Amino acid sequence: MKFFTASFVCIGAFSSGVKTQALDFRDYPVQPVPFTQVQVNDGFWTPRMETNRASTVWYDFQKCEETGRIDNFAKAGKLMSGEFRGIPFDDSDVYKVIEGAAYTLALHPDPKLDKYLDDLISKIAAAQEPDGYLYTARTIDPKCRLDFFGPTRWSKLEGSHELYNVGHLYEAAVAHFQATGKRSLLEVALKSADLICKTFGPGPGQLQEPPGHEEIEIGLVKLFRVTHEQKYLQQAKFFCSIRGRPETHKLRGAEQQDDKPIVEQSEAVGHSVRAGYFYSGVADVAALTGDRAYIEAIGRIWTNVVSEKLHLTGGIGASPNGEAFGANYDLPNDSAYLETCAAIANALWNERMFLLHGDAKYLDVLERVIYNGFLSGVSLTGDRFFYPNPLESDGKGKFNMGSCERAPWFGCSCCPVNDVRFIPEIASFIYATRADELFVNLFIAGTAKIDLAGTPIEVRQTTEYPWHGKVTLTLTPAQPHQFALAIRIPGWARNQPVPSDLYHYADGLAPAVKLAVNGKTTKVKLDKGFARLERTWKPGDTVLLDLEMPVRRVVANPAVEADRNRFALERGPLVYCAEGADNSGKVLDKIFPGKIQLATRPRADLLGGIVTVTASSDNSVALTCIPYYAWCHRGPNEMRVWFPTR
Ligand SMILES: [Zn+2]
Repeated sequence: MKFFTASFVCIGAFSSGVKTQALDFRDYPVQPVPFTQVQVNDGFWTPRMETNRASTVWYDFQKCEETGRIDNFAKAGKLMSGEFRGIPFDDSDVYKVIEGAAYTLALHPDPKLDKYLDDLISKIAAAQEPDGYLYTARTIDPKCRLDFFGPTRWSKLEGSHELYNVGHLYEAAVAHFQATGKRSLLEVALKSADLICKTFGPGPGQLQEPPGHEEIEIGLVKLFRVTHEQKYLQQAKFFCSIRGRPETHKLRGAEQQDDKPIVEQSEAVGHSVRAGYFYSGVADVAALTGDRAYIEAIGRIWTNVVSEKLHLTGGIGASPNGEAFGANYDLPNDSAYLETCAAIANALWNERMFLLHGDAKYLDVLERVIYNGFLSGVSLTGDRFFYPNPLESDGKGKFNMGSCERAPWFGCSCCPVNDVRFIPEIASFIYATRADELFVNLFIAGTAKIDLAGTPIEVRQTTEYPWHGKVTLTLTPAQPHQFALAIRIPGWARNQPVPSDLYHYADGLAPAVKLAVNGKTTKVKLDKGFARLERTWKPGDTVLLDLEMPVRRVVANPAVEADRNRFALERGPLVYCAEGADNSGKVLDKIFPGKIQLATRPRADLLGGIVTVTASSDNSVALTCIPYYAWCHRGPNEMRVWFPTR
């Protein structure tokens, strides 16, 4: 069986002179079940994945065409004449849409999309210089943006994004190769990566400088997985290792995670998207090389984030100043930045932390991100986007890059093109395996075909999550087979909204968690956040998980000034907000001093089908709340997540 996202079996020999090597590397102890093995058939996620496939992929390509992003490749390749248009890192936007398109193609044959990608890839190949260099702005006109990329190649790495761009190229190339079997983009990527490996390193005449914006580390690891060429893994490790080392280059400071070596870092600092990609790359390198110091470093940084720098929505990067992490406990609401890309980076990092440690606490963060701070970033129609995702709005401030609503596109459009590649990937977070252990991580209905240590097992999951907490799993192993089924009991169902003391439930409730195997109630014993059921499973065995899902009142650690004397509302994995549209235009003037009554109401007719929550207080203040991800679909609006009690 071939793993799609994390672990690959090498396919064929490579024309770049690569010999297929034996599988002698270590890897993540837990392996994800790739989304190509998972058929999502879910009331909540299927419409979003379909919108992504049918609308957002094409919409993003159309925008890339309109804004000259695709012509830049044609111009660099001398297929057309003209000046470079846009920002030099715009190349990466095209690669990210290709990656998303390839994922949808892997699940859903589409000759039109396949052909579109072939044409686009021929332009990208034409834009590549003979030695592998690929950066359309400099190739079109080496003087067009000297301020941005410096007079010669790699002369301004702190800002040029030359390495960032090709990192996204590598991810796209691997996705396209795996979806189609075509090597066209992969050859471009390998040629580029070979140039990078030759140019950067500790050897004589090589450059010892890290990329400005991290990303190439993840991309190089993906090239390693698909080729088994050690040099790509070594190159990723080199880029991880030289940050913060003044003997190799002039340090750029915390903004670029370049103030001290990763193994000495303990706090999440600087640009939050860069940081999230960096920690993800470090996790990959650590998993594949067994580097304990790396694992410990990202463990310390993770603890810092979940304890002091995580918004309730799973967003990171509180400060618009440098799109960066703020100080510890500096978690503002109306001015919170929380870039959609940072939410994605946080999810990718937490998925990797889970694969390293097999602990559900990382999935608690991942789930919080995907249902809240990530999902708000894209409209229900899939063609309007948030760049920042604040937790409060007066409906007038133009927080979204000059708009107070989701926008059709941005000058720097990293977020819309990140959404398109992330949504299909969500299916690869649902299940995972470790030897004779099958993890059920997320509650998303559908079927999965899983190879568990040589035994094929089909898993069917039925659920109306996140609206109801009932989940039915039907297991069909090819023959009776003994293994452990590890079902995640979410933190929210265990009275722990986040794996730290940053937030807690303040209502004294203890929601029931029920588990039954073939109709027989089973005691829930927790191991790293999972209920582990070890037995000989037979075809047709069923497991019923029933998570009581009351509305919960959340309060923040008193050190968070912005949330003092305030509470937020959650139900299941969803954070709620109140929006003007449901409350006669006004939510920011409401105060809840006394006891609060909470009521839910299913509203199939509203915002794609939601459950609303009404909070009412003794002083007859009442607000109708909706899931945070769904806000701002009805015009500019007041919105609030944290409600004052005085
Ligand atoms: Zn972004």
